[in-house]
Amino acid sequence: MSRESRLIRWIWWILVVTALFFLGFIIGWFAKPSHANSEKHKDVNKYLKEFLDEMQTDRIREHLRKLTQLPHLAGTEQNLKYAEQIQKEWLEFGLDSVEMVPYDILLSYPNKSQPNYISVVDHHGSEVFNTSLAEPIPPGYEDVSNIVPPYSAFSAKGQPEGDLVYVNYGRTEDFFQLEREMGINVTGRIVIVRYGKIFRGNKVKNAILAGAKGIIMFSDPADYWAAGVQPYPDGWNLPGRGAQRGNVLNLNGAGDPLTPGYPAKEYTYRLSLEEGVGLPSIPVHPIGFHDAVHLLKNMGGPIPPNNWKGALNVSYRIGPGFIEDLKSHKVRMNIHTNNQVTRVYNVIGKIRGALEPDRYVILGGHRDAWVFGGIDPMSGAAVVHETVRSAGRLLGKGWRPRRTIIFASWDAEEFGLLGSTEWAEDNARLLQERAVAYINADSAIEGMYTLRVDCTPSLHTLVYDLTKQIVSPEEGEEGVSLYESWHKRDKWTNDRDAPRISKLGSGSDFEAYFIRLGIAAGRARYTKNKKTERYSSYPVYHTVYETFEIVEKFYDPSFRRLRAVAQVRGGLIYLLADSELLPLDANEYAHSLRSYAQIIAGVAQRNPDQMELYKVSFDSLFSAVQNFTIAAKGFHERLQTLNREDPLQVRIMNDQLMYLERAFIDPLGLPGRPFYRHVIFAPSRHNKYAGESFPGIYDALFDIENSADPETSWKEVKRQISIAAFTVHAAAVTLTPPA
Ligand code: GLU
Ligand code: ASP
Ligand code: CA
Ligand code: ZN
Ligand code: ZN
Repeated sequence: MSRESRLIRWIWWILVVTALFFLGFIIGWFAKPSHANSEKHKDVNKYLKEFLDEMQTDRIREHLRKLTQLPHLAGTEQNLKYAEQIQKEWLEFGLDSVEMVPYDILLSYPNKSQPNYISVVDHHGSEVFNTSLAEPIPPGYEDVSNIVPPYSAFSAKGQPEGDLVYVNYGRTEDFFQLEREMGINVTGRIVIVRYGKIFRGNKVKNAILAGAKGIIMFSDPADYWAAGVQPYPDGWNLPGRGAQRGNVLNLNGAGDPLTPGYPAKEYTYRLSLEEGVGLPSIPVHPIGFHDAVHLLKNMGGPIPPNNWKGALNVSYRIGPGFIEDLKSHKVRMNIHTNNQVTRVYNVIGKIRGALEPDRYVILGGHRDAWVFGGIDPMSGAAVVHETVRSAGRLLGKGWRPRRTIIFASWDAEEFGLLGSTEWAEDNARLLQERAVAYINADSAIEGMYTLRVDCTPSLHTLVYDLTKQIVSPEEGEEGVSLYESWHKRDKWTNDRDAPRISKLGSGSDFEAYFIRLGIAAGRARYTKNKKTERYSSYPVYHTVYETFEIVEKFYDPSFRRLRAVAQVRGGLIYLLADSELLPLDANEYAHSLRSYAQIIAGVAQRNPDQMELYKVSFDSLFSAVQNFTIAAKGFHERLQTLNREDPLQVRIMNDQLMYLERAFIDPLGLPGRPFYRHVIFAPSRHNKYAGESFPGIYDALFDIENSADPETSWKEVKRQISIAAFTVHAAAVTLTPPA
């Protein structure tokens, strides 16, 4: 080719490209009004895909390995070191700011020079059996110091001595059965219960109310042993000498026991230890099943019903006390744990929103662990770390979310959700005005089966849409979406063809945000098959055996499950922060309210005669639900035709969506529980882990058959129905056109 013809080809090319460019520009210009939204939409999705694809299994593995090398109990130097490391790395990843936020709160540690243990003593008072002082150290960690032995945080000090009474799981219904059916009184005795089914703090409260002077909790293989699995380190089962640590408070959402309602700063007024919220008045101690056998094997008294029997080779007799021959033997608890005001640190990282910096989307999870925290919480913290890294990469490419994103590494969750609750108290004014949603990031895995999501109803649709865009982490499901994989394994029980989503309970850091402040909230993790795996949480929960290796060898060798959880948690944050219209669904709330109303009316209908006698009706509640349903439907119809070019119109409707959850907050709180203020959801009075819907009505109806004063009790039911009806109605009005 000659020089001239090459030149002519070049000029031709330039002309063609320029012409195409202008043509595109002109078409784009004319097409703008109708295409602008879908263009923006494409942009959101393009970056979403990049954001999710950037999350890498090897990176999550590395984060988890680095963050689980040493014990990092709340209030210790090592946990401050991890906080500093997280702060440094989040800044390196590219967050706009990362702050350490300290609080001085009440924690509880064993006394290093006076160990806690339980003895069987003979009639001379000599110890004939003692429980172990520590768990055997797992291989590879022999030289590690600062492993706190199993203990019940915030136990009262003391050395109570007495006869044992076995009360199954220590649930409300177990104590009812013991007292009402078996006629056994635990006053002045020591209660022994198995771990599982409910939050341990509820067991302790039940024992105290029944009059016990001490309580021992043990892990029974029936609840903490999966069939066909070896104990750690050869498998993921609980070794016989493993014991579950954990706090035994009954805070009802108060946060730091000494500063309820206000952040625990240096200048903050503190209650005395005697006045502290939720502190148990009796000694409490946890043991493994190896020790439990020695306490249970000689017990006398009646043979228990079959559903009180665990899987140990003992009779599970109820007591009180030992068999005839050993009647003079007693059990003595030796507990010397100290409460101590200690400094803890939350790490708060931010990405400033481009268009709505005053709207906050929060991803928070705890950092403090009982020991290494291999699963709880670092499988979650590693996932947050990878989410922050991925968000940082997008920022580097010029992306910035519409709204502000806040990342939080909470401290002292294990001591009663303390770090997250103090920060909520500190920032309550900002949060109630500006927070759009809170996504929790505790343990990312508790089983190897499928996804588990608990969230507010308005997030259902977003969770379904998002999980359709994530691939299944399971072997052999490469072309399958997470949604399909999850749907196949866990179907919603009754009325709909979709994967199961449950309501939020408590026992992790979303509590203050959802139940106290009324911020839309959710959590997601990988879980076990509840139909076949009956054990509670997971076998090594809160033991020294929660290591990096248990995740790497057994729970998620490919780290694909953790990546899928990162994509769910991260994807939720992303879409909540960057969608022009908030992806919250009021129709789903209407649907859930209706089914909760039907359920609670059904509970009341167990006493049809009394309902009639005291003229109790749920009509007002159903009519409010009907108003809400109509308002939600109208709202979403108007959303369809909203002029998206008008930023004020968009903001008005987004605010209605944001404040919808807030509308369910009653400033007066639930009876006796001022920090539980959500009228639709509260942690169950009988199990902090479980969520109760219409809790005010539920609690008023509970055990009403046995009320000493039915008239007063039914009056309270009516009052609670009216509060629920008013609240639902008021929430409906917030969805109607503003003027
Ligand atoms: N997640 C911790 C536990 O289950 C703390 C829960 C709480 O205090 O609410 O032990
Ligand atoms: N793993 C528990 C849960 O998420 C909370 C905790 O013990 O930290 O339910
Ligand atoms: Ca406080
Ligand atoms: Zn946790
Ligand atoms: Zn925990």
